[in-house]
Amino acid sequence: MRIVAANWKMNHLRADATAFMETLKAGWKPVEGVVAAVAPPFPLLPLLQGLAQGTPLRVYAQNAHAEAKGAFTGEVSMAMVQDAGACGVILGHSERRQYNGETEATLLPKLKAAAAQGLAPMLCVGETLAQRDAGETLAVLKAQLAILAGTGFPGLAIAYEPVWAIGTGRVATVAQIAEVHAFIRGELKALLGDQGAATPILYGGSVTPDNFAEILRVPDVAGGLVGGASLDPAKFLRLLELAA
Ligand code: 13P
Repeated sequence: MRIVAANWKMNHLRADATAFMETLKAGWKPVEGVVAAVAPPFPLLPLLQGLAQGTPLRVYAQNAHAEAKGAFTGEVSMAMVQDAGACGVILGHSERRQYNGETEATLLPKLKAAAAQGLAPMLCVGETLAQRDAGETLAVLKAQLAILAGTGFPGLAIAYEPVWAIGTGRVATVAQIAEVHAFIRGELKALLGDQGAATPILYGGSVTPDNFAEILRVPDVAGGLVGGASLDPAKFLRLLELAA
């Protein structure tokens, strides 16, 4: 199974989402084994879910809070994003680690809350440039993945997103992706056994229609988590075609 997931980040209004879905539905020929997902900002979840009716598009949230309810002004719960149309949730994106203080300590309760709610988690991991230059890449990833220990999370996917490749136009090399994805596979097997052997591992970081085919040929790459290029429905369609 391959997954092409669009992370819209803090982009798009209702009109943009509507136009995106019109273009997507006009050009998309879904094929067996290729999952398309879009993670819009929270306010667009119900609209997108409605527009996706009758298609196999999966709608994800970009984040949600670990607590079920209560005095957490400005937050939304797993149940709320599900109620608004999400079937999964991105967790631990590097931008949330950087700007919102996400750590393994905050992410483990979120993983558990997502699982309890029946939401498929997409856990993002990745090293900064300083960590890579210091030779710490695999140790950083090992620590980020360790929160998966012992617990099976239904629908789990991992997205390897080297922080230095996000939004920079500087895509990781095939050799770098191959090394890291093989390492992540080994960690997942050690942590989760059979589920770890089958968990999809996506690559993210400056993915475009020009580099996606090459990235998809790397062993243990099961698709992409795409930011900038996913805002353009024509490019997203092309990525889906390349994954087929
Ligand atoms: P870009 O594709 O814009 O580099 O973003 C990647 C990303 O962060 C997806 O989650």
